[in-house]
Amino acid sequence: MTGRVVDALEARGGVAAARDVLESGVTRAALARAVRDGWAFRVRHGVYALGRTSPAVLAAAAHGGAVACVTALALAGIWVLADPGLHVWLGDKGRAHQHPGCRCVDHHGEGRATFGVVPVSDALVQAARCLSREGFFAAYESAWRLGLIGAADRVAVRSALPARLRRVLDIARGDAESGLESLLRLRLADRGIRLDCQVPIPGVGRVDFVLAGRIVLEVDGRENHDGPSKRHKDLVRDAAAAAAGYETLRFDYALVVYDWPLVEAAILRRLGR
Ligand SMILES: [Zn+2]
Ligand SMILES: [Zn+2]
Repeated sequence: MTGRVVDALEARGGVAAARDVLESGVTRAALARAVRDGWAFRVRHGVYALGRTSPAVLAAAAHGGAVACVTALALAGIWVLADPGLHVWLGDKGRAHQHPGCRCVDHHGEGRATFGVVPVSDALVQAARCLSREGFFAAYESAWRLGLIGAADRVAVRSALPARLRRVLDIARGDAESGLESLLRLRLADRGIRLDCQVPIPGVGRVDFVLAGRIVLEVDGRENHDGPSKRHKDLVRDAAAAAAGYETLRFDYALVVYDWPLVEAAILRRLGR
């Protein structure tokens, strides 16, 4: 019987209401035995889970719903600008339950609250409320690049967005290599500056961006570990670009995120604006 309890929870993503587990034909006694023997545990009154369920899913279940919004995006490996905290989808009637350390952000919407993690396309629509315009744009491009939203999902997400965000999707692409690239492209587009992305230059390789056919823009991601060999490679790359007639501007995560006015001033000056 314990096997059936585990199967029933497994089939529901590792966490479920006791009501749903019992409906699948498991007896109350079997559920109690599975808990006593350590196969499952009680998350809160009427909700049970397997021990190996992810901490975010368990915390959301304790709160009363499913991992949602920016938390679901981050869990799927999508680029999210800041630490997302725990955002929980509670359906249309679900209510938030207090639990230790609760600082959850509630999301309500059509449907009955479930547990687990909401689909990426739903999470994107929810995140439109919690992220800045550019934070949303970067997350959307990241989801697209990771292959987590297909053409039908993109249409659905778009139609669920407010008009101001729908417009921003007109310049979204599925090949942005990092969230920083997305931010940079959007911010420059806002200034009427168009970028060519992932441009191959003979003798250099692929560069992140080319502006006005002569300025190379490289953005080092936050995951890059700086070191002497990386620095040397960058210098070789910049020299090769210069030999091919390009000037290079190189920025990193901290500059783009925390010192944008300086980055923008450097770019505008080079463009002769
Ligand atoms: Zn949210
Ligand atoms: Zn909570």
